Amino acid sequence: MSYDARHRFCFTTGATWLNLAATVADGYGPDPVERLWDASRLAEWLEHEVGVTYPVDDDDLAHARGVRDALRNLALSAATGVAPSEAAVEAVNEVLAGCRPIQVSIVDGRVRLDPPSSVRHAMGRLAREAVTMLSGDEAAKLTACAEPVCRSVFLDPGGRRRWCPSGRCGVKARVRAFREREKVR
Ligand SMILES: [Zn+2]
Repeated sequence: MSYDARHRFCFTTGATWLNLAATVADGYGPDPVERLWDASRLAEWLEHEVGVTYPVDDDDLAHARGVRDALRNLALSAATGVAPSEAAVEAVNEVLAGCRPIQVSIVDGRVRLDPPSSVRHAMGRLAREAVTMLSGDEAAKLTACAEPVCRSVFLDPGGRRRWCPSGRCGVKARVRAFREREKVR
């Protein structure tokens, strides 16, 4: 697999918090890839997903990775029915406890949600988005990628997708199946 495909962000899981969870590639295999490899990479992700350019330092990066890993655990648990880890629940609760109440402003004559004022607040909001989805009807539509090393979780309202929307895993599985067939011949 090329450098690009494994390192590129995936923004198409169906929810912002799941896009955050997808910032690790092949997270359940022997060779996981950290897509948030430094603070500027996190700034880039936040700019895309939250629409704000934050100053990001290494503490923010460590915090974001911690929130991400806890959310990955809860996502996989919801998609597969395996119980979530207590440490992950505790970590998410800690983030929620520090969550700032949401505020609104009038922009161009309309009420708009204020963007989170810092990286920590952005992570708090993502944790809130996560637990709202996980405790609602949409939780039943969460699917884990069939590729065992990936297990990336995405929203699948149609209930038909087997592989995550990164595009990598479906291709990998089809290539593998093709090689198996060739061997049999
Ligand atoms: Zn996948």
